[in-house]
Amino acid sequence: MVTNSKWSPQVQSITEPLRVSDDQIRKVMSLLLENMKKGLGKDTNETAKIKMLPTYVRATPKGTEEGKFLALDLGGTNFRVLLIDLKGRHVKMSSKIFNVPTEVMTGTGAGLFDHIADCMYRFMSAEGILDQILPLGFTFSFPCKQMGLASAKLIRWTKGFSASGVEGEDVARLLKEAITRRGDFDVHLVAVVNDTTGTLMSCAHSTPTCYMGLIIGTGCNACYMEKLENVELWDEDRGEPKEVIINMEWGAFGDDGALDFIMTDFDRHLDENSINRGRQRYEKMLSGMYLGEIVRLCLLKLIEAGQLFEGKMPLVLKKKESFYTKYVSEIESEPDDQVNRGAKILKDELGITNASRDDAALVRYVCSLVSSRASALAGAGVATVLNHMERPMCTVGIDGSVYKYHPKVHKLMTETINRFVDPKCKFKLMLSEDGSGKGAALIAAVAATLKT
Ligand code: BGC
Ligand code: MG
Repeated sequence: MVTNSKWSPQVQSITEPLRVSDDQIRKVMSLLLENMKKGLGKDTNETAKIKMLPTYVRATPKGTEEGKFLALDLGGTNFRVLLIDLKGRHVKMSSKIFNVPTEVMTGTGAGLFDHIADCMYRFMSAEGILDQILPLGFTFSFPCKQMGLASAKLIRWTKGFSASGVEGEDVARLLKEAITRRGDFDVHLVAVVNDTTGTLMSCAHSTPTCYMGLIIGTGCNACYMEKLENVELWDEDRGEPKEVIINMEWGAFGDDGALDFIMTDFDRHLDENSINRGRQRYEKMLSGMYLGEIVRLCLLKLIEAGQLFEGKMPLVLKKKESFYTKYVSEIESEPDDQVNRGAKILKDELGITNASRDDAALVRYVCSLVSSRASALAGAGVATVLNHMERPMCTVGIDGSVYKYHPKVHKLMTETINRFVDPKCKFKLMLSEDGSGKGAALIAAVAATLKT
């Protein structure tokens, strides 16, 4: 963290709430563990905020999986359709990104799934595979109650989606119905998968010590391999393997007020103006959909206090979400004492022509506070899960735009975890790209070889 001594007392008092102390991290960790246990418990799951959802994925890949698979990836920045060819550890992939317009994200469920089916048709037609019925892994990155590997009820939308008539429904059925409505191609839907699970599986394919998957992208969530004996809600077969991946849905941590002790006015304002008010409170402090907005809200306060841009409010910053999370990554990408990128973004991207070097330095400082807090909180989450699993070595497979593109998140998370993890639990944070595609195909492939 950058030292704060060079800033005026006013700047310091406005930004101070964005710092988290070690004591606060310890408290976050013990609350998270308490919430995890609540989510796993039969009598407490109902009221638990962290749902700890069993995924029906009980074995990691062996590296011998084979075949051709389709995958869909919905729920991040992009919607993608993928074709994956597995030959043992060799993976061949082609994919196409499609746009999901805001009207479709927030329209009707039928409209959303018709759009998905339309994109599938276009992709399959371009690949020349319309006449084949391939197994499909559907990465649907929202909280779902799985009824089996290929059936999942959406609990509630997150991340700016709100399409009607989908919450409470089986998204596998909605997809199949949309495909049937068209009637011009077909697939064999074998798995609905969360992106965290896909990431774990994709990482485990090359690294057998991977037992945890993490996404810090548009949204934030984690999953890990849990012992069946700890999963009280598991009412399926308790035979081998005696483990199952749990999709934690930890983004909802704090939805009962548990994290109020670290919430700032910026967090409260952001939440009140979001489409899922009161929900995903931990995610809202961590993920790409929100980090830029937290920075913007802090900048507004600094301007109002006359500490930035000589107190002149640039119109652009009054607009919600006008300060993108990618600016945070770019601004922090140059050496610590430099502000060239920031000055350029302020001038060229945001059109703030009266910004001085000092202004750019203060903007950079706010970005660093927001990203450091996100990293510390994510690190606290990972350390809690590692301590709970008690594995001598665990590789954490991680994907998502914030982890991938922010220059310091990996380092800051590692530092936090090192400080709070039990020294008996060794760990490694590993970028695991394409979990949503490759992971979904692997799950489909493992499903073909195992009865899950
Ligand atoms: C969703 C999770 C997902 C995460 C990362 C959250 O908003 O609830 O299911 O894993 O975003 O994409
Ligand atoms: Mg993704």
